[in-house]
Amino acid sequence: GLNNVIKVKHGNVDAKDTSSFIGNIISHCAIDLSSVPGNGDNGKSPLFKMSTFDKEFRSGLGYNQPSSPLASVGMMASATGATASKYVARREIPILIEENCTQCMDCITVCPDTALPNTAQDISAILSTAISKYVSDENARKVLLSKVPELDKNCRAKMLELVVDADDKTRFKDIAIDEIKKLDDKAITDESVNQLDAILDTLPVIYKKSKAIFLTKEKKEAGSGGLFSIFVNDLCKGCAACVEACGDHNALKMIPETEELNAQYHSANTFLKQLGDTPQKYLGIFNSQSPQEAKAAALKFHLMMQSKYNAFLSGDGACAGCGEKSVLRSVSTLTETLMRPIFHAKAERMSAKAEQLSQTGLETLNNLKTKDEDSYKIFKKSILHLLMGYGGESSEDTEQNILEFKGDDKKLIDALVIVLKQDASDHKELRAIEGMAPNGMSVMAMSANTGCNTVYGSTPPNNPHPYPWMNSLFQDGATIGWLFGESFIKDHSRRSVIPERFADMLLNGFSNKFTEDDYFFYTHFSDIYMTEDEILELPKVWAIGGDGGMGDIGFQNVSKAVLQNRPNVQILMLDTQVYSNTGGQNSDSSVMTGGFDMNQAGVASEGKLTEKKSVAESFLGGHGSPFVAQVSMANSATLYKSILDGLCYRGTAFFQAFTTCQPEHGVPDYAATEQAQKVRDSRTMPEFVFNPELGETYAEALSIKGNPLSKDDWYLKKIPGGGGKFTYTVAHWAFSEARFRLHHKKVKEDKVKDLIRLEDMIKFIMMDDITHRRHIDKNHRSFIPDWGVYTIDYADDGSPVYHILSRQMVIFNVERRKAWRILQSKVGTINKDYQEQKELLKKIDSGELTVDEFLNNIQENGSAKEEQLEKETV
Ligand code: SF4
Ligand code: SF4
Ligand code: SF4
Repeated sequence: GLNNVIKVKHGNVDAKDTSSFIGNIISHCAIDLSSVPGNGDNGKSPLFKMSTFDKEFRSGLGYNQPSSPLASVGMMASATGATASKYVARREIPILIEENCTQCMDCITVCPDTALPNTAQDISAILSTAISKYVSDENARKVLLSKVPELDKNCRAKMLELVVDADDKTRFKDIAIDEIKKLDDKAITDESVNQLDAILDTLPVIYKKSKAIFLTKEKKEAGSGGLFSIFVNDLCKGCAACVEACGDHNALKMIPETEELNAQYHSANTFLKQLGDTPQKYLGIFNSQSPQEAKAAALKFHLMMQSKYNAFLSGDGACAGCGEKSVLRSVSTLTETLMRPIFHAKAERMSAKAEQLSQTGLETLNNLKTKDEDSYKIFKKSILHLLMGYGGESSEDTEQNILEFKGDDKKLIDALVIVLKQDASDHKELRAIEGMAPNGMSVMAMSANTGCNTVYGSTPPNNPHPYPWMNSLFQDGATIGWLFGESFIKDHSRRSVIPERFADMLLNGFSNKFTEDDYFFYTHFSDIYMTEDEILELPKVWAIGGDGGMGDIGFQNVSKAVLQNRPNVQILMLDTQVYSNTGGQNSDSSVMTGGFDMNQAGVASEGKLTEKKSVAESFLGGHGSPFVAQVSMANSATLYKSILDGLCYRGTAFFQAFTTCQPEHGVPDYAATEQAQKVRDSRTMPEFVFNPELGETYAEALSIKGNPLSKDDWYLKKIPGGGGKFTYTVAHWAFSEARFRLHHKKVKEDKVKDLIRLEDMIKFIMMDDITHRRHIDKNHRSFIPDWGVYTIDYADDGSPVYHILSRQMVIFNVERRKAWRILQSKVGTINKDYQEQKELLKKIDSGELTVDEFLNNIQENGSAKEEQLEKETV
């Protein structure tokens, strides 16, 4: 890459300092959200106020920071990352080419930094927002607002005319301003038109190729089409993953950032904040009220809703393009997407019941007292014990406490009503984060092991988490997460489930008896007795760790937490196959080639002979009934679907996701998704989903369908430029990551003429040969000549690239192939390649055929696989 190294010009040293990059931002009449009243704001102690945090961490104290309670106990304000500019982290920034965007959502899905907020809106919503917030003259504003329906109609007509012309590049702004200028009203001043022109000019508005938003809708029902927009915010680190994902659409490109562009983006993002969530009609088949029922392919549209997109805020210190972040964001946004409508529906229900109870509850309780005094007494005791704080250390203690209660029955009903109302308010009106609109309490909490995901999010003020988040030293994240889950179950029982059940008894006329058995039941209530709906309403927990923290030193903790099968605990292992944040030491998930810290590859040893631990697979057996998925950004639809299925499963869900670590893997900043696809396609980490709800055999519960050619040893990949297909082995993936550089060398074609091709060599070897070290016995068929094996990869232009391989690289291919075959066998796949190999080895081991005869035969006639390739090519 040295050819690409360029000298960064520093310019004139006396030039004006423009490093703040603050250009001319177009602002609106600002609304300070901190002044919007939200439940509980006034009662917050200073420790929980952003101003306290700001005083310490954003007052320029530098190294003179006081050792205050916040700093000394490691507390951080939530979601401060959202306010962090990442200008210093990027050299270039993406720019949208509006007329080419098809609204495929690929860029938005891959962006690791929550930097592409996007929305679809009615044309009238965009026009009304621009007019009401950016036109300063009151008269002009009034008149323009009254003309919005007319403008909407005229813009639409013009857009329909232009949309069929493939070469047309007219921007929405120009259409709108043209139509505004045509309006005949003296109140519409030049200044107001200029103000609208200025703000609309900053907006990225897409309508030409975003057919599902505009043209298709418009054809179906005139007046129903809208506009799609993708904004770029200041959290962008310039990794270019979005541009890579956009690919042939050519709707995004990286350009150097200027002061003007930075100001334009700031202005546009400020405009976005004035808009509401994307209306349901633009979300297609994705129903935001019941996301768990959506098809996998439709789930990406949840990212069109700002209320969900911002469930993870970024602004943290992860490297540009870090593969972990897109997956981490997925679990947060999907949990928010699933749970928020459930929370709001619950709030409505609780409110309604509280209201009803305040009207009829006392009368029903009085009736109960008259007709069944025993039931009344035990019910009263239950309310006092469970809801009013009269419970004690023992039954006697409780009875004693209850004697202190001097209130009447109305007090009991009032208590129940208050608890229901508080619960309703917590679920809908609470403002969890200062600066954001009240939306109810957090739907989830996160626990983490020390690792990259912890480190990049725990440096004030760069916390990306808007929900309760806690780090635990090295290996304990899963256990801490499980305990969060237990405490949520307890809270949910006492604050929601039991009060609602008591309210229901009263609202239904209290027709049944309430006995000491019932009292015992409710004082020992747990999730076992919750209905499916009550379980779904439980706040969720995500335990997050890397492969070091969860698959290696913390494996026992994870194993224990998985086995508990708690209904609200999800565990995610971000698998970079190495201890990333401490500099790349070997973990159990590291692959056989070594070359990392503490697992050097060199003359004495080429790596490790320990096989890669598959943590997710270890939970497919002997760990009870967890939901398990090995998924990644290779297929975001499957990743999203499995996250939702896991959240809805009444037991623990464990996810293992391959994620690139750019510096440790040696891959470009933009490559996270591409590398995840290569890892899957090379069989290094095949995708699978195990859902115990589907049956009690692997054949029923396990699916490996997400892998291409899932019945064969290897996937056949297209040679770029249409030159046929080639066998895509583990080695082919390894060529794309610099961490494997010690295990292959590029050579000229003539250097390989006496060598064995990898695809043939591995036919003579089974994993058992390696276990018994026969692969270093020159007289055995499985002998692997060090650097005596080659394979062919293909460059972007389709030309062949010859690589010779270390012995360890060949072993690595055999080991991953074996792991893949075992996985295939679990679902009952008959792998013909494996059958053929066994036949071949039988012949060689019985003396019927020699290795040389087989190789000569291939040389003369070509291998069966090559014939197959030829067929594919044709
Ligand atoms: S360059 Fe990277 S961080 Fe910036 S918007 Fe694109 S994907 Fe997101
Ligand atoms: S910019 Fe490109 S990747 Fe993003 S939605 Fe548009 S076409 Fe798709
Ligand atoms: S070191 Fe690797 S895992 Fe850690 S933030 Fe950077 S890219 Fe991500």
